[in-house]
Amino acid sequence: MIIVMKTKADEQELDNVIKWIESAGYKAHVSKGVERTIIGAVGDERGKISLRAVETMPGVAKVMPILQPYKLASRETKEGNTVIKVGDVEIGGPKCVVIAGPCAVESQEQLMEAAFAVKEAGASMLRGGAFKPRTSPYSFQGMGEDGLKILAQAREKTGLPVVTEVMRASDVELIESYADVLQVGARNIQNFALLKALGQAKKPVLLKRGMMTTLEELLMSAEYILASGNDDVILCERGIRTFETSTRNTLDLSAIPILKRRTHLPVIVDPSHATGHSWVVPAMAKAAIAAGADGIMIEVHNKPKDALSDGPQSLYPDNFVQLVKDVDKIAIAVGRSIYHHIQSPV
Ligand code: PEP
Ligand code: MN
Repeated sequence: MIIVMKTKADEQELDNVIKWIESAGYKAHVSKGVERTIIGAVGDERGKISLRAVETMPGVAKVMPILQPYKLASRETKEGNTVIKVGDVEIGGPKCVVIAGPCAVESQEQLMEAAFAVKEAGASMLRGGAFKPRTSPYSFQGMGEDGLKILAQAREKTGLPVVTEVMRASDVELIESYADVLQVGARNIQNFALLKALGQAKKPVLLKRGMMTTLEELLMSAEYILASGNDDVILCERGIRTFETSTRNTLDLSAIPILKRRTHLPVIVDPSHATGHSWVVPAMAKAAIAAGADGIMIEVHNKPKDALSDGPQSLYPDNFVQLVKDVDKIAIAVGRSIYHHIQSPV
């Protein structure tokens, strides 16, 4: 339920409304705009007083049941964009981010080489999976905690914040002790136990759209994390499964403007998993920034032909240098810019 306060409502009235909401057993999330204050009241109404009763309280302008079941993620609850700070990097602000690195951490040498290469090319953050959700149980499953240690070393050496995947609720604490952003992979988007555990985490969550999830389902999964107490969720479009076989998935670029209209959360795009072919990635990366994405996530490997996972979609460092130069220009053309840790050699 959305409770809109009157323009002239005072602090006391606001306080009374919040207290009532909480005493009725709901959670109140207050969003103060320039002109008016909006309260998002969350909680299952079954067995409780209906939130509609709050309409009778002084200072309340209107109470609206919202059609969208994702209340906290909705623009109706919060008008301004959510900007998530990761070290010096801001995601969802005027600058777009470029997250880059290999699919998986394979060794110290491999990750360091890739990390320095993406940093020099102008990346904002480093990615790399230590726990890998592979379709086949016989494929490389990731280095586990050793991989996390290597990622933490790479952060120390390059200064780039680190994004890595968490597959199980029981691993959240371990992974957040090493990483800066916790990624939920496409295959785990509706692992609700994991989402609830991430709601308790102190680090931002990068939530990837599932290959068969609608945008509403993606937002409902984000809602799980927000409702469990973590406000920092980054949404990631990474392609959905269609009848087309030329690409690994089909990149749904229209998800960007639609999500930006429905939610205040940052939206980034992963053209690597969306397309599955390194030569298709640069065009889709440019298209994503042009369409309003807050960032892109690109797989880059120092030696793609030797990669233990996702080699065919991984860019060589040289190709990534060119990609960054190109997205720099696109970002400027659409009134934004790219956050670089170091000046990119444009
Ligand atoms: C990944 O980012 O390496 C990954 C496994 O992606 P997805 O979950 O989107 O398939
Ligand atoms: Mn991958």
